[in-house]
Amino acid sequence: MDTILTLTLVLIFSIVTMLLYLYFSRKNPGENQSITVTEKPLLEFTTCLLCGSHLQKGEKMKTDVYRGNNYSVVHITGCPWCNGNRGNRSRQCPQCKKELPMDGYLVGKMWKKDNGKIHVQVSGCVLCTYGKQR
Ligand SMILES: [Zn+2]
Ligand SMILES: [Zn+2]
Repeated sequence: MDTILTLTLVLIFSIVTMLLYLYFSRKNPGENQSITVTEKPLLEFTTCLLCGSHLQKGEKMKTDVYRGNNYSVVHITGCPWCNGNRGNRSRQCPQCKKELPMDGYLVGKMWKKDNGKIHVQVSGCVLCTYGKQR
């Protein structure tokens, strides 16, 4: 008698769990996805800040990140089309409008906002950023 009761309880329990699982997995698959995505992209640029090339998926601007306590310093050396990787299009600093040499790069600050998104603020190229501070 006891074993039959236990079996029935286990059966009911597993059916309820399955129904709950089906219900929740159908209800918010989008929410689960957005949670996993927020950590993924580190730096996303669709247009190269230096040469203005429209970047496709997989073409990324090369960045060197130097981590600090409150924020990180990023050196942006350009996309494959202007950093010598696939091409050498002319590069212009968005701040001082001067043409950047091949070994030049943009300097930016990067930090995580309260909402978890990563924010990058470009202050200029190596010439005008470090020139101003002196
Ligand atoms: Zn570029
Ligand atoms: Zn500049």
